[in-house]
Amino acid sequence: MSKLNITVWNEFRHEKSEERIQKVYPKGIHEAIADALRKDEAFNVCTATLDEPEHGLTDEVLEKTDVLIWWGHIAHGDVKDEIVDKVYDRVLNGMGLIVLHSGHFSKIFKKLMGTSARLKWREVGEKERLWVIERGHPIAGGLGEYIELPNEEMYGERFDIPAPDELVFISWFEGGEVFRSGCCYNRGKGKVFYFRPGHESFPIYYNEDILKVISNACKWASPPLESPPDNYANASAPLEVIKSK
Ligand code: ZN
Repeated sequence: MSKLNITVWNEFRHEKSEERIQKVYPKGIHEAIADALRKDEAFNVCTATLDEPEHGLTDEVLEKTDVLIWWGHIAHGDVKDEIVDKVYDRVLNGMGLIVLHSGHFSKIFKKLMGTSARLKWREVGEKERLWVIERGHPIAGGLGEYIELPNEEMYGERFDIPAPDELVFISWFEGGEVFRSGCCYNRGKGKVFYFRPGHESFPIYYNEDILKVISNACKWASPPLESPPDNYANASAPLEVIKSK
C-alpha cells in the first residue's frame, strides 16, 4: 500500500523570536508534530514554513500532498492570497486539511468556512477537558472518554463557524466556557478537520492523546480514490428519452 503524504505547515515565527516558545519547541511546532507522525510507517511526512519560497507550498509540493496540517498565529496576513487559492483548489479536489488551534483565523480556514471564524479567548493556562462526543468516529479511535490538558489557552463560544458536518470533541475549560474543539467538514472532494488545542507556549504537541488525534485525522482526511472528473457542463443530451415535452 502506498504511504500517505503529509505536509506539516507552520508559520514558524514565535519559535524564532521568543525564547520561552523556543524552549518548548526547539525545532519548531512543525517538527514536533512531524517527528511524532514519522513513527507511523503509513505516513511519509515533510514540513513547510512561511518564510520559505512560496511558503514551502510549491505546485509540486501541493500536488503530491495528500493531507496538509496548518498551524499559524501572528502572521496570517503574510500568507500570499495566490498560495491560499492553490491550497483551496487542492482541498476541493480531494486534499485533506487539518487546521490546528490559532489556525482558525488563517485565510485558508476562513475561506473554506465562509464565516469570520472569530472566537473568545483567555490566556492564563487553565485546565481544559476535551470530551469525546462521537466515540465511534475514526478521529477518536483509541481515546478514552476525554482528554485532559492541565494548562491551555481558553477558546470559548461563540465560535463563528458553520455548523460542523460532524462534531467529535467539545471542550470544557476551568473558567467555565465551552468550545466546539473537533469539527469535521466536507468541502468539494476534500475533508477538513479543525482541532483546537495547541497554544505555542504549552507543550501540547507532545501529548500522546493529542498526537493520536492528529494521526487519526490524517487517516480520516486522506483523499478519495480516483474517480472520473466532475461534469459541470450543460447536460443537453439526457440519458433517457424525455417524453414530457
Ligand atoms: Zn494560542
